[in-house]
Amino acid sequence: MKISQIGRSIAASSTLALNEEARILRERGEPVISLGIGEPKNKTPITALLSSAAKLSEGNVKYTPPDGTPSLKKAIICYTEDNYDRCIEPENVIVSTGAKQALYNIMVSILNPQDEVVLLAPYWVSYPEIVKLAYGIPVVVTPEDGSFTPRMEEIERAVSSYTKAIVINSPNNPSGVVYSKEFIASIVEFCEKKNIYLVSDDIYHKLVFDEVKAYPAYQFTSKDIESTHVIVVNGVSKLYGMTGFRIGWVIANRKLVEVMSNIQSQMTSGTSILLQAGAEGALTGMQSLVESLRLTFENNRNVILQELRTFNDIKVIKPEGAFYCLPDFRAYSNDSVELANHILKKALVVTIPGVDFGMEGHLRLSFAGSVKDIISAIKRIKWAVDPNSPNEIYIGDRKYIRDWL
Ligand code: PMP
Repeated sequence: MKISQIGRSIAASSTLALNEEARILRERGEPVISLGIGEPKNKTPITALLSSAAKLSEGNVKYTPPDGTPSLKKAIICYTEDNYDRCIEPENVIVSTGAKQALYNIMVSILNPQDEVVLLAPYWVSYPEIVKLAYGIPVVVTPEDGSFTPRMEEIERAVSSYTKAIVINSPNNPSGVVYSKEFIASIVEFCEKKNIYLVSDDIYHKLVFDEVKAYPAYQFTSKDIESTHVIVVNGVSKLYGMTGFRIGWVIANRKLVEVMSNIQSQMTSGTSILLQAGAEGALTGMQSLVESLRLTFENNRNVILQELRTFNDIKVIKPEGAFYCLPDFRAYSNDSVELANHILKKALVVTIPGVDFGMEGHLRLSFAGSVKDIISAIKRIKWAVDPNSPNEIYIGDRKYIRDWL
């Protein structure tokens, strides 16, 4: 069978492999806990459900404009004004099938084959693959000081004449780090000076803790929407826990939005009217849900940190946002895939290998689940990796024997 170069270059997701293994174990009746999941557990906001249901009951479910329905675009324009203090026009907005397609549209629209996109490690697992799908080359900058924020000098060194964009994501998946005001200001200034796009993936922007603020890149450019190099990506997946609605969007200059619309019109056409109506319902409905999710995650973050402190040998940088942390497990293993497999087999806990995010030796732990699950999962992980813990453990009424790495 002949497979294209691009097809061969796209990595299989070890996340999916682990989830599949977890599913098989669960089917066998094993009490698996997932710290892998990247989605809030809340029910869909009622305003979203009503809005989708109203469209469904009209019985008029047809094609939508490729760049989004006028009424969802209007809601996004209001959201952008309220949250970013930016006035934009409908021509500056394109609605896509999740932030994932939004990012793909951007890359296909700005990259020529072999153009480079700078990614900051730890980065979201799909960024390098999305860049490759658009025939670009991901260039990863890894902070040399062991932190999760590269210094500007490191980023500047990675930029070449082929660089078309830098992608930032703050609060960050997988580390929970929120980049400082100074860092965002410097990177905006650098990109505007160098004529490089700064793609700001703001999908977690309101999920911040300890009064920390996720500074929007827009705040540090004096240029208007038509001339700035800042491109904003956002969506309803994380803030409203509406992952299954698959609604994301991009705010950019008109020309780029037009190009992305053309591409989307040939690929998927406009996203389903039912789901766009749902997103509109969430954006225009009660916003207290976002605050209650934020509070839940802040509490869960405190719980997971407290549990992780019982390990002698792992280092963890305190997450200030999103719902993930990325502890350094190198005291136990340098191979995060092997370690995640071991933890799943022995402790029945799903974790995600740090190597997928450009941070080998780390594991991504999601704290989007329940406090009860977080506490037992971390205790089980400790049992599975700590040489000083007893040989046997009871999970429910079953006894498990530890098998050394
Ligand atoms: N960006 C980041 C940083 C994410 O974590 C995710 C989802 N895990 C996405 C984009 C994609 O979001 P969506 O569900 O809207 O496609």
